Amino acid sequence: MTTEKNIPYKIYLSENELPHAWYNMRADMKNKPAPLLNPATGEPMGYEDLRPVFCDELIRQELDNDTAYIPIPQEIRDFYKMYRPAPLTRAYCLEEKLQTPAKIYYKFEGNNTSGSHKLNSAIAQAYYAKQQGLKGVTTETGAGQWGTALSMACAYLGLDCKVYMVKCSYEQKPFRREVMRTYGASVTPSPSMDTAIGRKILEEHPGTTGSLGCAISEAVEVAGQNPGYRYVLGSVLNQVMLHQSIIGLEAKAAMDKYGIVPDIIIGCAGGGSNLGGLIAPFMGEKLRGERDYQFIAVEPASCPSLTRGVFAYDYCDTGAVCPLAKMYTLGSSFIPSANHAGGLRYHGMSPTLSQLYADGLMEARSVEQTKVFEAAELFARVEGTLPAPESSHAIRVAIDEALKCKESGEEKTILFGLTGTGYFDMYAYEKFHNGEMSDYIPTDEELAASFAKLPQL
Ligand SMILES: *Cc1c(COP(=O)(O)O)cnc(C)c1O
Repeated sequence: MTTEKNIPYKIYLSENELPHAWYNMRADMKNKPAPLLNPATGEPMGYEDLRPVFCDELIRQELDNDTAYIPIPQEIRDFYKMYRPAPLTRAYCLEEKLQTPAKIYYKFEGNNTSGSHKLNSAIAQAYYAKQQGLKGVTTETGAGQWGTALSMACAYLGLDCKVYMVKCSYEQKPFRREVMRTYGASVTPSPSMDTAIGRKILEEHPGTTGSLGCAISEAVEVAGQNPGYRYVLGSVLNQVMLHQSIIGLEAKAAMDKYGIVPDIIIGCAGGGSNLGGLIAPFMGEKLRGERDYQFIAVEPASCPSLTRGVFAYDYCDTGAVCPLAKMYTLGSSFIPSANHAGGLRYHGMSPTLSQLYADGLMEARSVEQTKVFEAAELFARVEGTLPAPESSHAIRVAIDEALKCKESGEEKTILFGLTGTGYFDMYAYEKFHNGEMSDYIPTDEELAASFAKLPQL
């Protein structure tokens, strides 16, 4: 690079520019996401129905389809200031490497100990639990990012935190487990003998290494058994999308400073929270007819809920104790193959994003994991940051779009979400480097077998 750039490598916002309110996309959606249903009766669940499981204020946020801006309490803003505003980065080195006329920007969310965007919602959820006078919260964690984030938030506020960690991750990622314990959380491998559902699953599938859906059922059961505890969830729910809107609000504020307007906005999609947060203010403009953008959700080919799933009411967990959600789903009995992007291995998708996708407001693509790791490695070498496997799904499609621009000569502006760092994923990188990584794609027959077990309403 020889010339001074007129757009900086990193666009920083000051503390005062940290958003004062979250933005609720649902307020601008013509077709609202479908309500959660009671799994026993099939009836929509209201505030009172959800109170035994979730925190009161979070239920209000969950059910609020009308308020566009919800103020961020000062205590949460103060916590955010320990690691936010997160800068927006121009990927000049990646552009140069690709020799593309495209302009690539990314919003990095891995700049905190938990290593991902999950802390944005963890602190909000822990705050409302504390405000309600609760003793603690329970949750599940797959790869471990959410559990880590929640442990940090609970430590800060003095809340107890019980984490049910999918057994294979518990064994494969002992460092994640120890980070959680450092922040005072108790971590139990799931399925466990602590709960009725855990015991049942262990009896039916001895030797199982667990799944996210099973860990959710255990965490919900434990919250119900312990007075003063509620269950919290790190993705999928409307309230989580709301808290994650901080990502998009900051990205947009940074872009507005320099008059930058993205053409394409890309994010990886597990339960949908980072993508929902990144696109929120831009989608708001699209929904209000003010400006058009292209939005792309990227998911693993091994767990393709948007691209190959069905839009239907389904269980959120294996034990069917959670409310039913209408979403793109592969069926709650679907067990994705061993994919290294643990955070993208959920069978369903946020009901909000599912509705936007059903209405044609957003696109989705699925990518194979070896292609994802090729993109991850290229990115690490030129931009310096070691990306999480999950985030690298977005990098893959950002690179693909930039290469299309190289062919067509179009100077598109691309924004993607870099959700986290990959320090705890070196086992996956090792597999990739040793040429031992495979791309398992489920067959139509396997998916059909799982769809056949969807709840009949
Ligand atoms: C959890 C996680 C994701 C996926 O979750 P979403 O709710 O879809 O955002 C993506 N990247 C990282 C680093 C994660 O930890």
